[in-house]
Amino acid sequence: MLVDLRSDTVTRPDMAMRKAMLAAEVGDDVFAEDPTVNALQERCAAMLGHEAALFCPSGTMTNQIAIQVHTRPGDEVICDQLAHIYNYEGGGIARNSGASVKLVQGDRGRFNLAQVIQGINPLDSHYARTSLVAVEDTCNKGGGSVWELDELAQLSNHCRDEGLRFHLDGARAWNGWVSRGMWGDQELLASYGRMFDSVSLCFSKGMGCPVGSILVGSEAFIREAHRSRKVLGGGMRQAGMMAAAALHAMDYHVSAMSQDHVHARMLETVLEEHPEVSSVDPVESNIVIFTLSEMGADEAVRAFAAMGIACFAFGPHKIRLVTHRDVHADSLTEACRRLATWRGKASD
Ligand SMILES: *Cc1c(COP(=O)(O)O)cnc(C)c1O
Repeated sequence: MLVDLRSDTVTRPDMAMRKAMLAAEVGDDVFAEDPTVNALQERCAAMLGHEAALFCPSGTMTNQIAIQVHTRPGDEVICDQLAHIYNYEGGGIARNSGASVKLVQGDRGRFNLAQVIQGINPLDSHYARTSLVAVEDTCNKGGGSVWELDELAQLSNHCRDEGLRFHLDGARAWNGWVSRGMWGDQELLASYGRMFDSVSLCFSKGMGCPVGSILVGSEAFIREAHRSRKVLGGGMRQAGMMAAAALHAMDYHVSAMSQDHVHARMLETVLEEHPEVSSVDPVESNIVIFTLSEMGADEAVRAFAAMGIACFAFGPHKIRLVTHRDVHADSLTEACRRLATWRGKASD
């Protein structure tokens, strides 16, 4: 039995989701005439206390559109050194928006107000104009770290006072909401959403959809975003089938993520006691990042593959495991058993 812990993107649409997709009413979404896409956009906007939303093919696109709409060429974006927008979007900030980046050295992707204040450039023509602060919740490279709401609120207030835009890369915001016990609390979700000028959410990670992300913000913001989406080649026609998958996931898959989080903590427990492991990042959602004491990560990934556990190296001695809805309890238990009994060369 292969246990695939490489990423929550490997989740496949189940039969109920496929039925919902098949039954979706559709239209031409470039003309804003797809009723199912419109329903998804309205639902996500309302959920996060915003006016409008835009369904897009990927989370890279929703982030890149947000950055493009919020900045002008030559501006600067403040984000953490671990941010997806900086590390994993093909240099898109420079390429699509002509903006530069000020990296913050946060705590597993989370940074504080003092660090933002320090990162804002003076209003002097020598400097790039700081115009956007972007956060990632949960932070992938931070090991699925979950932000403190107070910390986000402080950043939000400061951005508002200073006239900076505030963007959330919420590819796995769902996991963060479940982790904090916020899911289902309409009021809390709306006040969370209103802290940001724009929010990007992914449906193709732990939500189990085949494709799709959404960008949420004000009507004026989304009007501009629509233009950016067109320019980036992201306009879709009968996208309602994909939106139906997303609506289905919002109805049925979010609360089930608590199981993924339990599974991640089970892996954490096994790894914490493991002789080949020097440390495990504290598990806060569905991602487990751990450091090997001696073995190189690539070698360990090969050893895990040989015992039926697929995962990725995340540094010279670091490995990432991601739990998700397609790894059921019995497979996860089996993976824990295999990991617990595994020994590298060092202890032969
Ligand atoms: C996956 C992911 C994205 C978007 O990736 P796509 O593959 O383009 O959908 C953005 N941010 C984070 C933190 C992610 O994990």
